[in-house]
Amino acid sequence: MTTLLFESPIFLEHKTPEGHPERADRLRALNLALEHERFQSLVRKTAEPASEDFVLLAHPEAHLRAVMKAIPEEGINQFESDTYASPASLQAALTAIGGAISAVDAVFTGEADNAFIAARPPGHHAERSKAMGFCFFNSAAIAARHAQKRHGAERIAIVDWDVHHGNGTQDIFWDDPSVLFCSTHQMPLYPGTGAKDEVGAGNVVNAPLSPETGSDHFREAFRSRVLPRVTEFRPDLIVISAGFDAHHRDPLAQLHLVADDFDWATAKLMDIAERSASNRVVSLLEGGYDLQGLAESAALHIHRLMRG
Ligand SMILES: [Zn+2]
Repeated sequence: MTTLLFESPIFLEHKTPEGHPERADRLRALNLALEHERFQSLVRKTAEPASEDFVLLAHPEAHLRAVMKAIPEEGINQFESDTYASPASLQAALTAIGGAISAVDAVFTGEADNAFIAARPPGHHAERSKAMGFCFFNSAAIAARHAQKRHGAERIAIVDWDVHHGNGTQDIFWDDPSVLFCSTHQMPLYPGTGAKDEVGAGNVVNAPLSPETGSDHFREAFRSRVLPRVTEFRPDLIVISAGFDAHHRDPLAQLHLVADDFDWATAKLMDIAERSASNRVVSLLEGGYDLQGLAESAALHIHRLMRG
């Protein structure tokens, strides 16, 4: 497999207040793990900022304007309860989108089989018209729309295994059967959505997991609810909202996954991508707030993308 890694120094410049879990050290920890020699064949690319037009693939212009207005000239501005903006936040969020767009282009032109975007801020909580949960723009949703618009992809499956429900992605594709959205997440937990009976136009699959459950429950949910639906959907592209906060060390949730679970789930999705999507997988970093749990899990995930 040819795997691209999209990164950018701007992702370290998006500042949150001292003690905030979504912090630049997350990417520093991941970068350290990726220094291991087994990542030598990983092709590293610098993500470039997307033009503001790309934001409009998933958000109305008023939302873009609201985010732009929230960017302070200095210091840190509380934009929405737990979501903070610093002077570089807009550029970082646009670069996260830029990485996702370039990754989609690379897998459709054959430059790569798959790609991982090591970006922050994350995106899956951003609804059409609302920044929340540390997220401004929904990069996964924008990547899916771009694949459809630019590359003629008909069906995109977005699989979200972040421990928090991907309410933003669900909101954006709620009535769009060309995109299948599948999420495993702890429930109850922030943001409170993601019950089994939230099904959109039949294109939304929620697999909530009870607190204090671990690998067995996660894999069972994946096997019984997520994988059959993704297989049957025959996607042209699989987008992964790859959060690693279901790891047992994570401070924000109470699931007990181990790093191997993310490796396992990656392999299962790659099997489906091989059958229906010419291997195309684009994976975006979402949450993951324990530095060790994040680095170890994301490294296994990326290594699996490289090996197939
Ligand atoms: Zn999360």
